[in-house]
Amino acid sequence: MSEMEGGVDVSGGVVSGEAAQQPQTKKRRASENGITTTGEEAKNGTEEKAKIDESYFASYSDIELHRTMIEDSVRTSAYQQAIFQNLDVQGKVVADVGCGTGILSMFCAQAGAKHVYAIEASKIAVHARQLVQANGFQDVITVLQGKAEEVELPESVDVVVSEWMGYMLLYETMLPSVLYVRDKWLKPGGKMYPERAVLYMALGEAQWITKYEEGTYDFWISLNHVYDLDMSLLADHAVSRYKDVVHVHMVAQEDVLSFPTPVCDLDLMTISAESLRTISCPFSLASMGSRQLNSVVLWFDVYFPGGHKLSTSPDNEDTHWQNTVLPLATAPLRQDTRVAGQLTITQDLANHRFLNVDLTYRVDGGEEITRTFKMDDNCNDNDF
Ligand code: SAH
Repeated sequence: MSEMEGGVDVSGGVVSGEAAQQPQTKKRRASENGITTTGEEAKNGTEEKAKIDESYFASYSDIELHRTMIEDSVRTSAYQQAIFQNLDVQGKVVADVGCGTGILSMFCAQAGAKHVYAIEASKIAVHARQLVQANGFQDVITVLQGKAEEVELPESVDVVVSEWMGYMLLYETMLPSVLYVRDKWLKPGGKMYPERAVLYMALGEAQWITKYEEGTYDFWISLNHVYDLDMSLLADHAVSRYKDVVHVHMVAQEDVLSFPTPVCDLDLMTISAESLRTISCPFSLASMGSRQLNSVVLWFDVYFPGGHKLSTSPDNEDTHWQNTVLPLATAPLRQDTRVAGQLTITQDLANHRFLNVDLTYRVDGGEEITRTFKMDDNCNDNDF
């Protein structure tokens, strides 16, 4: 699929939020998200953020999380190839923001970097330091255990490398930390790895949503025969709970019903952290064939200098990011039926790692439907 539709609008704005929750899935981050508050409110906000960050970095101390990422060979080899096939790193000074186990820093050392500053706030930094030693890179790589916003580098850098992407690209809100390092330490004319990130949306008929609905109704209705009790009311409750949350789940290529449209196209050399607080995009997508619309599907691609691409599209091999799915009320579509509206993604005010996703749409110019989703720790489908 290559045709793009609709427009892109990345604008700063006020975010709204709900109660803070403690994060504990794949990734997260904190600090300067640009929210302006005063007095006691600011103090509480700072303390709350510090707690959220503590929990976020604690989750990254877990070796299994790093295994999940490194095992994702689409991800890991995309970085390796971009680092090896360009000459940007050879003889140059690099900052690796959020080095984890240090794998990307070691790729840079293998590719001939002059020096690599490997920055990592979680305790996995201790292991990164051991690995650097074990691989004989102690003269090339310096592991700095601390937050990207707080560490002091002895010199500015030619290249910033980072794997900061969360589910739906922006979940976890790690990108502002990378931009902070870019603004403070990257030399003029330096390079960002990756240098561009694009989030896409398309119409979907996720078969697993249909299966869940059918299976749930079958189960609750079947109790009538087994226990002579009518429990069927609970089916509606279970299905609406399932359809009210964001799902991180793979979508089969044939279940994508339209060409994609970009939700945002971020130039990582120039984008500001402020402009990420609200991302809003009008869309107008046409159905390819007569199908049952039941979702909006999102995925992202990132690009490295030299055109190397890491794609998480349903058209490509699976990645640990999977796809992100917003369930919708089922609606029949014919060939070329238009589904048009607005998608808005905002950082949650109470937990800067979480996102709020608002979707307004009309099917074939009909009644306007509004859906609001919160993207928090329950979004990974292992919970269902
Ligand atoms: N670069 C590694 C790990 C990527 S995961 C790899 O490719 O395998 C992102 C890492 O960034 C996590 O280990 C997390 O703890 C770290 N991180 C996130 N925000 C950070 C920040 N503000 N300062 C320092 N480290 C951060």
